[in-house]
Amino acid sequence: MRIVLLGAPGSGKGTQAALLVEQLKLPHISTGALLRSAVEAGTELGLKAKIIMDRGEFVSDDIMLKLIEERLSQFDAIPGFILDGYPRNIAQAEALDGLLTRLERPLDEALQIDVDIEKMIERIALRASEEGRSDDSEEVARKRMQVYAEQTAPVVDYYADKGVLSRVLGMGSVEDVFSRIMGVLQIRSYS
Ligand code: AMP
Repeated sequence: MRIVLLGAPGSGKGTQAALLVEQLKLPHISTGALLRSAVEAGTELGLKAKIIMDRGEFVSDDIMLKLIEERLSQFDAIPGFILDGYPRNIAQAEALDGLLTRLERPLDEALQIDVDIEKMIERIALRASEEGRSDDSEEVARKRMQVYAEQTAPVVDYYADKGVLSRVLGMGSVEDVFSRIMGVLQIRSYS
């Protein structure tokens, strides 16, 4: 099953992705994690990406497409994947469609986790103090939220128009949200 997880920063996407990976035995492809490992490895891409990430802005669509194309071509992604953090704008959504069409592996499901925006800013600030992520100060969190509203929120409508979107409420316990997600995926696999 090929799944895109959508939701604002702090919506619990990463946590739910980890649970889905365990349940469905599919690779978790997080573009944020791919970029952070490039930063840690000190590659040329990593050095460029760090400056952009620290400002709460987006790495260019070209770089992201190359990164995702390389990752989706790996063997473990053939049975399916849980994509987290991509696409982040309409151009990326169109590029992903093009890529998956070429690979003859169309998307099955775009899953949007809906959470209250103020709550998300609180979660991001908390994670900043727990993990010490340099892109997670409150100011950067607000910037990321603004970029999300302007660029990523329209991706939800894009997938709704394609008929592959489901939405789940992201409030409540991790387990509650996960069982909503599993409910949606079961409906999708029978439809
Ligand atoms: P994340 O861990 O998904 O919140 O990503 C952390 C940061 O990596 C983002 O704030 C962006 O700067 C960058 N990033 C991750 N995914 C993308 C993407 N699809 N397009 C552009 N930038 C991205």
